[in-house]
Amino acid sequence: MEIISTIAEYRAFRSAIPNKKKIGFVPTMGALHEGHGSLVRQSVAENDLTIVSVFINPTQFGPKEDLGKYPRMLSKDAELVKSLGANVVFAPSPDEIYPVSPSQILFSLRDLDKKLCGASRPNHFNGVVQVVSLLFHIIQPHNSYFGEKDFQQLMILKQLVKEQHFPVNVIGCPIIREKEGLAMSSRNLYLSPEEREEALVLSQILFFIRDNFARFSSVEEIKRFVYEQIRQKERIQLDYFEVLEEDSLEEIATIEKTEKPHAFIAAFCGKTRLIDNLVLFP
Ligand code: AMP
Repeated sequence: MEIISTIAEYRAFRSAIPNKKKIGFVPTMGALHEGHGSLVRQSVAENDLTIVSVFINPTQFGPKEDLGKYPRMLSKDAELVKSLGANVVFAPSPDEIYPVSPSQILFSLRDLDKKLCGASRPNHFNGVVQVVSLLFHIIQPHNSYFGEKDFQQLMILKQLVKEQHFPVNVIGCPIIREKEGLAMSSRNLYLSPEEREEALVLSQILFFIRDNFARFSSVEEIKRFVYEQIRQKERIQLDYFEVLEEDSLEEIATIEKTEKPHAFIAAFCGKTRLIDNLVLFP
């Protein structure tokens, strides 16, 4: 497995690959865990070559967010990627990706970014779309793999490739969880043992709602239940909880009329912002 840090070097590698070989791509910000591992495994199984990028993209962080302290551990990440059978880790510097200061281009996100994480993190999804577009141009993959943990991101990227005619399939992969249910995240590394214990409430809430969905009469009632659960946790501050129609991310009118309800939650656990989501229909 090779670690490549410049676009020129990657282009030399890419141009030597025969046309008929399928290339799978897994973009990440590093500090890899089994959630990332599952995407790499799927790519290795479905493609001839797999490229994993490790790039902490500055344009998707807000001014008060954790860009400076985001965990960096490239050699450990490269070991994991190698053990899973991928061929290249592409780990460019910010200057390599943005040789001039990042353009202020605004992408058409069709209001998909107006709710959930987009409402809490202005410009976040614009930064995501910016970097994923650049990485698609550079890597030139056939298939790309993204986790459903970032469900809104996945929807926005599917919209991007459709609208911009990128010749890339965007493939969504299921959320990988710790055995207690907590969705795996690089940011879980920030949690103290007490915070981690309380953070379990996020997935517990989602699974409880899914398993008892028929007993709730309205989304308001579900929300009241969620607020009450969170109120009991000293270290958790709710950012949002929503039940939305999965395909459109529109608010649902009534529970009975909703075909594909999907629950989304984000909360601060101490200073760490965590997200999770779950399909509520069978
Ligand atoms: P990140 O390094 O956080 O930018 O994530 C890189 C990719 O891994 C994104 O497509 C995420 O959705 C995906 N990912 C992160 N955590 C998980 C998880 N627990 N299960 C599945 N995919 C994940």
